Amino acid sequence: MRTQVGIIGAGPAGLLLSRLLALQGIDSVVLENRSRSYVEARIRAGILEQHSVDTLTEVGLGHRLHREGLEHHGIYLQYPGTRHKLDFPDLCGRTVWVYGQTEVVKDLIAAQLDGGPPLLFDVSDVTPEDVDTDSPRIRFTDADGNPQLLECDVIAGTDGFHGPSRAVVHEAGGGKVWERTYPYAWLGILADVAPSTDELIYAWHPEGFALHSMRSPTVSRLYLQVDPSEKIEDWSDDRIWDDLATRFALDGWELQTGPVTEKSILPMRSFVSSPMRRGRLFLAGDAAHIVPPTGAKGLNLAVADVTLLATALVRLLKEGRSDLVDGYSDRALARVWRCTHFSWWMTSMLHTSGDEFDAELQLSQLRRVCSSEAAARELAENYTGLPID
Ligand SMILES: Cc1cc2nc3c(=O)[nH]c(=O)nc-3n(C[C@H](O)[C@H](O)[C@H](O)COP(=O)(O)OP(=O)(O)OC[C@H]3O[C@@H](n4cnc5c(N)ncnc54)[C@H](O)[C@@H]3O)c2cc1C
Repeated sequence: MRTQVGIIGAGPAGLLLSRLLALQGIDSVVLENRSRSYVEARIRAGILEQHSVDTLTEVGLGHRLHREGLEHHGIYLQYPGTRHKLDFPDLCGRTVWVYGQTEVVKDLIAAQLDGGPPLLFDVSDVTPEDVDTDSPRIRFTDADGNPQLLECDVIAGTDGFHGPSRAVVHEAGGGKVWERTYPYAWLGILADVAPSTDELIYAWHPEGFALHSMRSPTVSRLYLQVDPSEKIEDWSDDRIWDDLATRFALDGWELQTGPVTEKSILPMRSFVSSPMRRGRLFLAGDAAHIVPPTGAKGLNLAVADVTLLATALVRLLKEGRSDLVDGYSDRALARVWRCTHFSWWMTSMLHTSGDEFDAELQLSQLRRVCSSEAAARELAENYTGLPID
């Protein structure tokens, strides 16, 4: 088998990269080690920055997003006795959209299977080889158990945090990893109940952070800060709703409850791996970096990476010019570090550690963001997404 760009991983990064390239006349093959149904059912991120919405619309995938997605004009920041709305259009002229990552992935897969580049599910033993040459290859086993070799001009490692590509970049030596593991986790639920709020609520509470998000007018997504050692079996639905009601409590407002359809505990870490390239192997998305979900940046960073990468690969493969691929890692990492800082800052401001000094600093920061237009604008600009370039 031969293609121009061999793409490892059919998450949002790999699928969008394949589509961006196809629209510029560049061939690709996407290799995914899970089944289509598994990939389409994975519950993950739900907030799209303005630039992600624009990108998906430009590649012809905006119809369902604009029909079923919910445009949000701000967020509420809450601390005891106060719930304050930050109005994004007023502060920075941009908005965000609530549209689940699962829906983005379903739209991308449907477009790919409808005459787009090949997308192979259920492959195994995927191994990038010869990445320091101009003819890299991907060795893999197809869904029927047959060994295969995919000859490429370039390989994109969009295989998430646990995929094989990052290790190949680091085998060359000289790479660096930065990591921070946070002493708390998020217990997340999906519930069949209309959201009790028009905008997301980010709530600071002495017992821990809580987030009220949503997926649609009839489905709510809610999170509780918990200790990473907590077991999901110890959290009955009633216990979860009670804790959520405590942390969101506000006079005159009530949390609506409903059947919980999914619940899980998500550890929180920041992780950045540099460089995002070795020879003809390029990393994008979670393969190179992880942010804690508090800033809603993971999916959006994946979109930003592949937007930069697609432009660079088109220049390389159509014009034979390597200037943009040579600058790709540095340009992508500059944005990654901005989002890493913002996600760390939101996480540090909102999650309680039990330390009373820290708590007073957090409340002081929250009061500042809720009373200073400059401080609020800084949050709004970062939350709604800085321009990709
Ligand atoms: C449980 C969870 C909850 C999250 N919640 C949020 C949130 O609320 N907000 C937010 O902003 N972000 C969230 N994120 C982060 C966000 O979902 C990711 O940043 C986003 O998925 C990154 O997209 P990606 O395409 O880079 O990676 P992925 O979505 O991980 O896609 C990588 C793909 O590569 C495939 N793959 C892996 N190994 C191989 C292999 N060996 N061969 C072939 N294919 C392979 C995987 O199966 C997967 O399909 C969450 C992440 C997780 C894990």
